Amino acid sequence: MSIKSYVVGFPRIGEQRELKKILESFWANNCSFNEVQEVASSLKKRHWTYQKDAGIEYISSNDFSLYDNVLDTCIMLNAIPKRFKNLRAEELYFSMARGNKSTVAMEITKWFNTNYHYIVPELSLEDEYKLNASKIINEYKEAKKLGIKTKINIIGPITFLGLSKRVDRKDSYEFLGKILPLYEELLSEIAKLDEVVTVQFDEPIFVKDNEEKILSLIKITYDRLSIVTNNLKIIVSTYFEHSTEATKILVNTPIWGIGLDFLYGKENFESLEAIEKANKKLIAGVVDGRNIWKNDIQNTLFTLSEISQVVEKSNIIVSSSCSLLHTPFSLKYEERMNKNIKNWLSYSVEKLNEIKLISKVFYNGVNCLNDEEAKLFEENIQVNYDRKTSTVIHDENVNLRVENFSKLQRDGKYEDRIKLQKELLKYDDLATTTIGSFPQTPEVRVARKEYKNNRLSKEEYINKMKDYIDDCIDFQEECGLEVLVHGEPERNDMVEYFGEQLKGYGFSQNGWVQSYGSRCVKPPFIYGDISRPKPMTVDWITYAQSKTQKIMKGMLTGPVTILNWSFVRDDKPRDEVSKQIAIALSDEINDLQNAGIKIIQVDEAAFKEGYPLRNKNIKNYEKWAVRDFKIAVSSAKEHTQIHTHMCYSEFNDIIKTIEEMDADVISIETARSGNELLKIFKEVGYKQEVGPGVYDIHSPRVPSVEEMIKQIKLLLEVLPKEQLWINPDCGLKTRKWEETKLSLQNMVEAVNYIRKENR
Ligand code: GLN
Ligand code: ZN
Repeated sequence: MSIKSYVVGFPRIGEQRELKKILESFWANNCSFNEVQEVASSLKKRHWTYQKDAGIEYISSNDFSLYDNVLDTCIMLNAIPKRFKNLRAEELYFSMARGNKSTVAMEITKWFNTNYHYIVPELSLEDEYKLNASKIINEYKEAKKLGIKTKINIIGPITFLGLSKRVDRKDSYEFLGKILPLYEELLSEIAKLDEVVTVQFDEPIFVKDNEEKILSLIKITYDRLSIVTNNLKIIVSTYFEHSTEATKILVNTPIWGIGLDFLYGKENFESLEAIEKANKKLIAGVVDGRNIWKNDIQNTLFTLSEISQVVEKSNIIVSSSCSLLHTPFSLKYEERMNKNIKNWLSYSVEKLNEIKLISKVFYNGVNCLNDEEAKLFEENIQVNYDRKTSTVIHDENVNLRVENFSKLQRDGKYEDRIKLQKELLKYDDLATTTIGSFPQTPEVRVARKEYKNNRLSKEEYINKMKDYIDDCIDFQEECGLEVLVHGEPERNDMVEYFGEQLKGYGFSQNGWVQSYGSRCVKPPFIYGDISRPKPMTVDWITYAQSKTQKIMKGMLTGPVTILNWSFVRDDKPRDEVSKQIAIALSDEINDLQNAGIKIIQVDEAAFKEGYPLRNKNIKNYEKWAVRDFKIAVSSAKEHTQIHTHMCYSEFNDIIKTIEEMDADVISIETARSGNELLKIFKEVGYKQEVGPGVYDIHSPRVPSVEEMIKQIKLLLEVLPKEQLWINPDCGLKTRKWEETKLSLQNMVEAVNYIRKENR
């Protein structure tokens, strides 16, 4: 039987983050756009070649992007917000993504429940949509020249609209009539490329609980798109959850195939019969595109055999569960990792081989494997057995402590605590602070790296970090900020830093995953039971506190964020792992407050993205996520002020849950989305103190004093000054000192102005 293997999409940042490096060099005016394009071409070539060499049949084009695929789709449709019109093509693209001197960037937000961020399209009735297919067409041709016939990945129209915002805040789906003809035009262009072309429409929005009104668009859309020409094979790809409602409709359209995720959407099994009846191809997502564990091939074959009891084998195509964008590139550069643990892992490149091997066995049986493949198959069985039975994973002491842990929340009511804290801490209304990190300079990065590579002694390293902290404090004092931070120079990343110090955590050298634009994160991975061998932050924070009379805020990452931004073991439920982390953090908070730290911020940047995509799973998530935040801060005394920070603005649906977390102060992102969304705090009578970001830190632009005065006044329309803190949207580590200093000085000046005015 012919073997078919499929990859939904491939990472694009490059095995050594080449794309990141060249983009940042371009933005710093250190290279030309031509050089960017050269690097892009060589990356595309390399990525296609990897997939081809692994024997994958369905390799994508247009999964590459210089910044983001949703942004590319905006360009494709000419969905360009008015404020960017008249910019030259090169300037336009990155200005939309990052803003420029005179224009604010478009909003970014998380791609479903991942840590990838896309640019939110802004649609307006004034727009004139027209097709620009050049990127898609060129990329296809580029691959073909290299002898690789690709399937073309395109964000489907329904997902595109579902993720868009209309400037008049009305329903984006009303724009379907405007953009569908462009998609049809695009398909006619694509049809001219080859005798037969496969097109993958990514429609992950189908895995949400969609209203009937939205579901009713599916048939119209895919009927129309499937009949544009008859030499196209249209695939609709869904992932991250089940898409049973949409699948029911899709089987009655002329599309060629449907991609379903069988790892994160078990209910997809219910769709098999309909798919078989309609004789559609099933792209079966069985190799995890979101985690790094070696596939349990025997288990996967079992899943596939279950599927093939309903769907004809020749209609099944073995696939990754989603784009491999969410896993790191290749294990090749992991030189320092413990060999046994490394042997449990599989990154994107290794997953290609798994997909191929699984498909071979699935279609033709073990006996068809050549010696080498047979050996790989045997090894896979052995590795999975070893991991299940390994003693480095299971820690009796941790499990006992988790079972018996009884301090589930802080002492005292918020109303009493805050009184106590205000007396003790004596901060003003509209107290100014920052979210934690300050610019990570090349020197800091180099020092951390040299230390890691043993080229810098511990003492030298600590001194360098202390110098940074000293400078950071000097600046904050000069600037007039009220609650200071140490700047987080010792942290490469807010999760990895903790992962490296917790037992049960593994970390990689090169496990980078794209977060937004050129920004990557290197999530650590949890392979075993978690405990804290010793304090993780106390030395740095107490050093910083010793250098200032002002209040130094201690900085931790919360349990839910640590969990959500790590690759998590797949042999234990997430909520149990999260509780282990929470208990470790409660010990850290206790140590910090005993060392004299009066304010501790526990960041839950990833609290919201951890929300399940389907409503029916939300209650359970909220229950353990709130439980574990409360466990983490349970050791804080009443006079210790607990802050938390969350990196997004849409709180409407979760405001009550956030209140339940019982933090004394929360800082959130608002600058990019205005204060409309803040009204919810007033509506529900939110009690705790709030620091809505007054400027966007994702852009290098320096906001003026006037702008921030305006922003603060808007905040004051919604919340009383006693309840407000003033801070930027998020941490400043990706910014440069120059712009950071100017922005924060302006922020403090704006606050001083308002205070004077109010006096
Ligand atoms: N304290 C962290 C920082 O400032 C928070 C980062 C975040 O929310 N993503 O970098
Ligand atoms: Zn943030």
